[in-house]
Amino acid sequence: MHPVRHSTLRVANDKGGVIVWAPAASTDRQVMRFPEQLIDGYRAFLVGRLRHEQDRYLGLAEIGQSPQIMVIGCCDSRVSPEVIFDARPGELFVVRNIGNLVPPYTPDGAQRAVSAALEFAVQALRVKHIVVLGHAQCGGIRAYVEEAAPLSPGDFIGHWMGLIAPAAAEVGPRGDRALGQYLTQLEQTSIVKTLDNLMTFPWITDQVSRGHLALHAAYFGVATGQLSVRDPATGQFVQVAADDHKRLFAQPSF
Ligand SMILES: [Zn+2]
Repeated sequence: MHPVRHSTLRVANDKGGVIVWAPAASTDRQVMRFPEQLIDGYRAFLVGRLRHEQDRYLGLAEIGQSPQIMVIGCCDSRVSPEVIFDARPGELFVVRNIGNLVPPYTPDGAQRAVSAALEFAVQALRVKHIVVLGHAQCGGIRAYVEEAAPLSPGDFIGHWMGLIAPAAAEVGPRGDRALGQYLTQLEQTSIVKTLDNLMTFPWITDQVSRGHLALHAAYFGVATGQLSVRDPATGQFVQVAADDHKRLFAQPSF
């Protein structure tokens, strides 16, 4: 039996036509090349973190993970929860998506990535905290505000970012507000609405009401490096470790 070789790929498009894709022979080798940057990074990992944490990795491999904290973050490459919180292996259970959003509880049988991750974190790992980590300059939020044109016929971003409509309604029309100020308000309000959506999951509500699980809203300033956490009593985002930040970045160059 001979292996089947696909030199071309035929895919039906939305309009009933057929797209024929054929790899360009001259670029095949380049396309398949694993990024050198990642190999270099892996080498740094070998001499750095792995050397220092090998026992921890071995232990975690044997007994399994038991993180206490779940983080729901944005895909944005500047806002890596493990980097911001200086997390060690096994410490954070992370879900990232555009805009750090959680759709409301919808047990409809559809393949729901965020719900599946929440289910595992809460029902199996029994995490004690869920942190929704929003951030400044969020491209997803900006795309929603600017009603950006779809990047592909499916308009996946547009449909996904529709989840922030309740936050946008609460913030109201931009009016005289500067764009930056308006975006910040929307980014932060969206995080709070995401906490509301988390509470539509019955097993999250149950764990929260028993005092076994706490939900938190946090916001990272990409340019400033400032981290703020929402005070549930006032509803305000308050900078944490402000003294350290001020001492270490007394003369910010950003
Ligand atoms: Zn973002």
